[in-house]
Amino acid sequence: MSTPLPARPPAAVADYPPQASFPDEDRDAVARHLSRARALAATDLWSEFRWRCLVSPLDRQQVTGVQHDGLVPPTRLFDALYSIGQNAVSAYALDTADGIIVIDALNGPEEARDILVPNMERLELDPRRIRYVIVTHGHGDHYGGAKYLQDRYGARVVAAEADWALMNGPQPGPFAALAPPRRDIVAKDGDGVTLGGTTVRLHVTPGHTPGTLSLIFPVTDKGKRHWAGLMGGSGGGRDSASIRRQIASLERWEKLTAAAGVDVLLTNHPAHNDATEKQVLLRYAMPGDANPFVIGADRYRRFTRMLGECSRVQLARMGEGEE
Ligand SMILES: [Zn+2]
Repeated sequence: MSTPLPARPPAAVADYPPQASFPDEDRDAVARHLSRARALAATDLWSEFRWRCLVSPLDRQQVTGVQHDGLVPPTRLFDALYSIGQNAVSAYALDTADGIIVIDALNGPEEARDILVPNMERLELDPRRIRYVIVTHGHGDHYGGAKYLQDRYGARVVAAEADWALMNGPQPGPFAALAPPRRDIVAKDGDGVTLGGTTVRLHVTPGHTPGTLSLIFPVTDKGKRHWAGLMGGSGGGRDSASIRRQIASLERWEKLTAAAGVDVLLTNHPAHNDATEKQVLLRYAMPGDANPFVIGADRYRRFTRMLGECSRVQLARMGEGEE
């Protein structure tokens, strides 16, 4: 969701939108956590830091401009992992010998029918082979098409208990009329979804929503094994209580991903990690070019800690310290 944008160019300076301001901010705490986040990001996570700590909280106009609904070519990311979403929100297909696991389902049945499924077909993935749809969290832009995939292909839908409740409650604005999937598989922390010998490990990481699921699963890049980490709510919390839960979840996520050896950064909005742009590089890759989604374990860890510092910046901007 976004606030309506002014006409471009605005008629007068008086109509220019101001940058967001935070009258109650604890300036010293903002400075401290921003500095830590920036140091963690160094130069190789500048883009992710810029988005999460600076652009997203301060500049709605830029967020809406970058994270607009738009078609992008579906792209093979790893040997059996495909990007099948659109510019504003991600969806993935993980192919196995026994069927396909879809991760997130875009904004609604129309996008599932007219974007997600055609993207799969362009990649020669048969949508009738979808066995599971994992919903990373219960916001309409992620579960929107889940009921369509459930009804049409008999896919089993997986979400955490708290977000089944969220999906079945009233939805804001553009999602008010959206039908949720029928309640199906309830994921508990640490559960796995296994298909064709591949297990996607699910961790309940509350913060962005009460039942956000974060995923760890193996991928291969031209046969070489890597571990993908997809934090299901990297956009953060909305009030101080949920931001505090998010900080705790990120501390746990750092340990879980380090233990698993996660070295691949996936997100559920392309803008969070420049995924749309990285996909261009992949589609035009020369033999031997590095896969831009493989960032290495150290950099993944700094990414997670950076998200935690940006959440602390968010709290400090509300005038609330976490310590
Ligand atoms: Zn969300």
